[in-house]
Amino acid sequence: MASYISQASQMVKTHLQKHGRYKQQRQPVQPDISDWLEAPKKTLLEAWKKRWQENMATKQTALQAADYPVWGKKGSLPLYKNLSKADASILTQLRTGKIGLGAFLYQIGAREKPDCTFCNLGCPEEAYHLICQCDGLLEAREGLKKSLGVDISTFSCYQFLQSLSNKAQAETITKWVRKEELMPFYNLSKELEPD
Ligand SMILES: [Zn+2]
Repeated sequence: MASYISQASQMVKTHLQKHGRYKQQRQPVQPDISDWLEAPKKTLLEAWKKRWQENMATKQTALQAADYPVWGKKGSLPLYKNLSKADASILTQLRTGKIGLGAFLYQIGAREKPDCTFCNLGCPEEAYHLICQCDGLLEAREGLKKSLGVDISTFSCYQFLQSLSNKAQAETITKWVRKEELMPFYNLSKELEPD
């Protein structure tokens, strides 16, 4: 008799398993979070830094990405100290190349042409071009040269990137970009966050 019962219950169990109504209790998989618990901030920073460096190195726009001093001994945060939100945002875009200017907007399909609208000479509208080279901004650039104390129009692309890792120069350039309304998206910020 007992064997009949056992056989019958096994049959019911098999049937239910087949039709998905009998599921063995599974232990939830526990992710390995020991690293995070030990030093969450450090782990996150390392992961982010690694991703940033790998990503930058594979991008065409990264130029001299390998040498690009994104991370100094103190990281990049001191660069942003005391900057307004708008300026900090502009500086980040200048440093990464992912910027609301023609060339990048064209790349992501947000503009029909990558060309510079300040000189209309068919140059790609990129940060380096606008800030250091564009003929349409010759007059405006004089003010920037004065504030910087150097002739930025003689800068190579690499020198330009280096200047964006120099606190004083990066701040001056960023504020000039906003003042000259090179990025229309930030024009309103002149009223909201005046210098
Ligand atoms: Zn131009």
